[in-house]
Amino acid sequence: MKVIINRNLCGHPPFACEKCFGEFLRTGAYPDRSCMLDVIDDNKPEVTAVITSGPYTRELVITDDIREEVIYDGYMKFADFPDDAFEVKPPSWNEYRQMLRDYEAHKKEPPQTE
Ligand SMILES: [Zn+2]
Repeated sequence: MKVIINRNLCGHPPFACEKCFGEFLRTGAYPDRSCMLDVIDDNKPEVTAVITSGPYTRELVITDDIREEVIYDGYMKFADFPDDAFEVKPPSWNEYRQMLRDYEAHKKEPPQTE
């Protein structure tokens, strides 16, 4: 399962985003938080988080080894973001809509692996 997270959509401080992703891992519930953009079934048993924060995107596979730590301490320490990735401001309504449009447009492209 692939979880698409775009922190630029919510502009919350990292701990808030990490907490809601932790809840998702723990309970499987899809929280109604704007930075969790999508959940895609990629036919893999493990969860891969695709996290965008500022101009950076990182992929983090949630293995059993780090799962507990990701739930309670958050994903940022595993995701290897530079320091300036953490400064995310809440978007304007126009920026927010543009990000959703970009995502939907990108999604319609044919997948590279099938
Ligand atoms: Zn968030």
